[in-house]
Amino acid sequence: MPSSDSGVASSAQAIDRPVMYIVLFGAPGAGKGTQSQRLIKSLGIPHLSTGEMLRAAKASGSELGQVAASYMDEGRLAPDELVVGIVCERLLEADCARGCLFDGFPRTVEQARLLDRFLADRGLRVSVVIDIRVQMAELQRRMLERSRVERRVDDTPETIQRRLQVFEAQTAAVLSYYESRDHGTVESVDGLGGPDEVFDRIMGAVDRHRGRACPC
Ligand code: ADP
Repeated sequence: MPSSDSGVASSAQAIDRPVMYIVLFGAPGAGKGTQSQRLIKSLGIPHLSTGEMLRAAKASGSELGQVAASYMDEGRLAPDELVVGIVCERLLEADCARGCLFDGFPRTVEQARLLDRFLADRGLRVSVVIDIRVQMAELQRRMLERSRVERRVDDTPETIQRRLQVFEAQTAAVLSYYESRDHGTVESVDGLGGPDEVFDRIMGAVDRHRGRACPC
């Protein structure tokens, strides 16, 4: 019975793969989107990008989407309860049971606390926070370039500046939160260089934390 044999093999592989909840952290323009695509392919875990989830909510025209849009269009952060609500709902889906990659989340200390609580209630925790480091001048250059190429509605020079300021003011503290909460959870990698080079650094960091989704 070749078909059922291969089915058993593939589910055994899925179970062998360690559970990993990875936070990809970095300023807007640090390369989270590019690296996320590579990571999810390589690790076989779902991609939870709150930016994408909020853009989808906005496009659907739902009430929640309209609230989110009023913040996103100005480059400000959407309210914590709204974002955490969407993320937790998604985490309850079956494909997240063996981990996921958080991209653009958590962006405030409160979001990080609420995520910790949600995972802890299920005997889980964030395995590793990958902090992609890029200098401010390079971030500004990349963001302006992206606005020319992609023409995203929230990528105007004003909102770009606002998003970088918001990162410094509200999001940078998330790293200190993870550093103080659990020594050794944060891995900083240099975000300068080609996408392959940066990816290799990230995978090196991920490998050091495989199987750390469980606090026991
Ligand atoms: P970027 O990293 O380039 O700013 P994202 O796609 O991650 O782009 O986010 C776009 C916008 O969506 C943000 O400027 C913000 O308004 C909103 N957003 C995304 N993630 C979050 C979050 N975790 N909390 C609050 N707002 C968020």
